[in-house]
Amino acid sequence: MTAIYLDNNATTPLDPEVLEAMLPYLGTSPAAPFGNPASAHRFGRHARRGLEEARETVAALLDARPDEVVFTSGATEANNWAVSALAGKPPGQVLCSAVEHPSVLEPVRRLAERGFEVAWLPVDAVGQVRLETVQEVAAGARLAALMLANNETGAVQPVVALRDLLGEDAPLHCDAVQAVGRVPVSFRALGAVTLSLSAHKFHGPKGVGALLVRRGLRLRPMLAGGHQQMGLRPGTEPVALAVGLARALQIADRDGPERLQKVERLRGRLLAYLEREAAPVVLNGPRAGGIPHTLNLSFPGCRGDALLIRLDLDGVACSTGSACSSGSLLPSPVLQAMGVPDAVLHSAMRFSLSAMLTEEDVDEAGRRIARAVRALRESEER
Ligand code: PMP
Repeated sequence: MTAIYLDNNATTPLDPEVLEAMLPYLGTSPAAPFGNPASAHRFGRHARRGLEEARETVAALLDARPDEVVFTSGATEANNWAVSALAGKPPGQVLCSAVEHPSVLEPVRRLAERGFEVAWLPVDAVGQVRLETVQEVAAGARLAALMLANNETGAVQPVVALRDLLGEDAPLHCDAVQAVGRVPVSFRALGAVTLSLSAHKFHGPKGVGALLVRRGLRLRPMLAGGHQQMGLRPGTEPVALAVGLARALQIADRDGPERLQKVERLRGRLLAYLEREAAPVVLNGPRAGGIPHTLNLSFPGCRGDALLIRLDLDGVACSTGSACSSGSLLPSPVLQAMGVPDAVLHSAMRFSLSAMLTEEDVDEAGRRIARAVRALRESEER
């Protein structure tokens, strides 16, 4: 039985074209550009060229300037850095959506422990952030955090509308991890002052991401050390990883429209099949208009943790929530914030797709899921 991977919001497989672009920088030949990009000699210059070309590519594809791109170890670092640096030292007010990723939520909670006052932006029943309460609390907020697309429901959030409410120069941070490389993203048009992304969510390597930092904004670095990346992120740059990130973004740009159409079709197919064959099914998140890679469904009468294990045995890899919290098997805070009833909360599964899947994969996964759901419901009834 072949395993079918439906956990692409946790991570995606590396594209072989990306690996090919990275290999020269991993020093596999004596002439490889393996040098430290800070070194003045030719080895360093070669590595620096690769790094700076990667920075230029990322900037061009996300509608930013090269000096606005800071490579990081991933989005967890980028989010932690943006939240703490934008908020600053003396306590003030923070706006944060209730459905942010833990790498935003936890730094915001730390701010609260230090005396910051946090206004949590609520979500509606499909996981869409509501901005009605913003006006009362926004004036003078030190930080506002709103993700572009939710990792559990695929809901696209009103980042531009929030920016319009807060004003052009408001300290708005956008976690765009689940959108970059999947749908077109423009740093300029979104109007956030910082934006995070992570390569492994779009067939790039793990361990590299970036924070886009609007020109003119002087963010206090999180790390202390050398002068790399304009002193904003000290440490020898991971050249091969940055090259991989840029290549993955180029491929996403080249194949984007076709991939998006395909994923949309696959999602519709899986949803229709499961609504028919595994009824009753509850869709958690928007039916349309979200990032189509995500399909979050509840199967009342089934325990989510039991279904996850059963599906793993049956060769379907999925998740009960975000990978960062699913280890705990606690109910998803995102669905809790949406106010879903207990039976829906405890039977939720996230299936996340990529264009590397075929219709046959999705059909076979649908059959395995429906079979597992029916079997578990029967055993729980007994
Ligand atoms: N934000 C969101 C929305 C995510 O889905 C993830 C990955 N689960 C992250 C941030 C963290 O990214 P990384 O794994 O690169 O630290």
